[in-house]
Amino acid sequence: MKSKVYIETFGCQMNVADTERAATGLRKAGYEMTSSATTADVVLFNTCSVRERAERKVLRRIGEVRKLSSPTTHKRPLIGVMGCVAQLEGQSIFDKTPAVDLIIGTQATDRIPSLIERVQGGEAGVIDLDERQEGEVWDVSPAERRSPYVAFVPIIEGCNKFCSFCIVPYSRGREKSRGAREIVNEVLRLRSLGYKEVHLIGQNVNSYRPRSMEGLEDYPGATPFSRLLRAVANTRMDRIKFTTSFPRDFHPDIVSALEEYPNLCDWVHLPAQSGSDRILKSMRRGHNSEDYLKRVEGIKNSKRRLALTSDIIVGFPGETAEDFAATMRLVEKCEYDALYIFKYSKRAGTPAARLDDAVSEDEKTTRFMALEELQTSVQGKLYNAYIGRKVSVLVERESARSSEDMAGHSTCHKVVNFKANQTRPGDIVEVLITEGKPNSLYGELIS
Ligand code: SAM
Repeated sequence: MKSKVYIETFGCQMNVADTERAATGLRKAGYEMTSSATTADVVLFNTCSVRERAERKVLRRIGEVRKLSSPTTHKRPLIGVMGCVAQLEGQSIFDKTPAVDLIIGTQATDRIPSLIERVQGGEAGVIDLDERQEGEVWDVSPAERRSPYVAFVPIIEGCNKFCSFCIVPYSRGREKSRGAREIVNEVLRLRSLGYKEVHLIGQNVNSYRPRSMEGLEDYPGATPFSRLLRAVANTRMDRIKFTTSFPRDFHPDIVSALEEYPNLCDWVHLPAQSGSDRILKSMRRGHNSEDYLKRVEGIKNSKRRLALTSDIIVGFPGETAEDFAATMRLVEKCEYDALYIFKYSKRAGTPAARLDDAVSEDEKTTRFMALEELQTSVQGKLYNAYIGRKVSVLVERESARSSEDMAGHSTCHKVVNFKANQTRPGDIVEVLITEGKPNSLYGELIS
């Protein structure tokens, strides 16, 4: 009998998608997937290395799992580390954490079954940091997807941008785009299975550049990504979202595509990282605040009202009070629908890790809180402006606050709660907004 495997996932949507792909391969190879470490013979940690905190959390979890006992062998479960930490730290994980039996790099997802077999066969120090092999395709069974209504569809892996703070180009390698035909076929299959929403995902989706234009011949556009958006929209999937967009590659034709196809959702996530040109240069973002604001203007001036969200890093090395004031001004100007604020975390091996002039932890916290306060007030006004408007909501679950309410996301990617009235997860409903809360909207069902 094959073992039971549990995968614990940290970090971004790409890791969630990798876990789904790994589980599909494992089940095909005869393994059983289980939803808890306590019932598993094999525990895999799919790790994130973007910030130090995520890395520390994994080490703590490995310590806890070491003490468990596998239901089959009555010994501790076999422990594997996959994802970004595995790729970056490789062999050294065995030295630092002797409980780890297996190290699986970010591109070894499809080889996990045979790697586990090697460990179970008695081989020590099993590690695979190699690239994806020719012919390996993104194959995820619906049974392994996190939701039966919303599916993540990776369109590009890796990153070529080398922003000075970011570990991703080292942990996930160079950008590699999936063929358009493969993506469109996956979306068509998801639609036939009853999925209502897909998220086209990648570190920088709008840098999409497949080897050939096969599958895009009938779709015009200024960039391969805007052509892909039109091709995916043509599948008639109900709702299509995409994240993350890289500012330098954000072509106005993306906004045109959103105006042409109502099933392309009215939401753009465009990380600014900072409002200071000096810091943006040191971050090697390839855009300054003027370039960024030009993109934002294009989004805000669209015929369709498009929601805009962003990421900001506070306390990058050398960030002065003046630089931070420029970030505050940018955030005020952009009126983001939501903002993800991060305190700068030094990542060994990145160019920024060699910069002097660190901002103290206290100062990072002060700046974080000031920015959060500003965003809360901007967001409050913006959310209140939804009162009296109708939004389309994909019902996902019972609301966390009340069993009489349901919750879901709008097309503009806001959490919306509303009186349940016999709606079920998977329904797409119209909701009239009656109240704006700090991070969500509340309303009444219309249809
Ligand atoms: N590729 C996207 C971009 O840069 O436009 C974002 C991908 S990254 C995984 C998600 C977010 O994590 C970034 O936008 C950034 O705000 C944050 N991040 C990345 N490296 C960081 C670091 N060293 N310290 C703090 N935040 C970081």
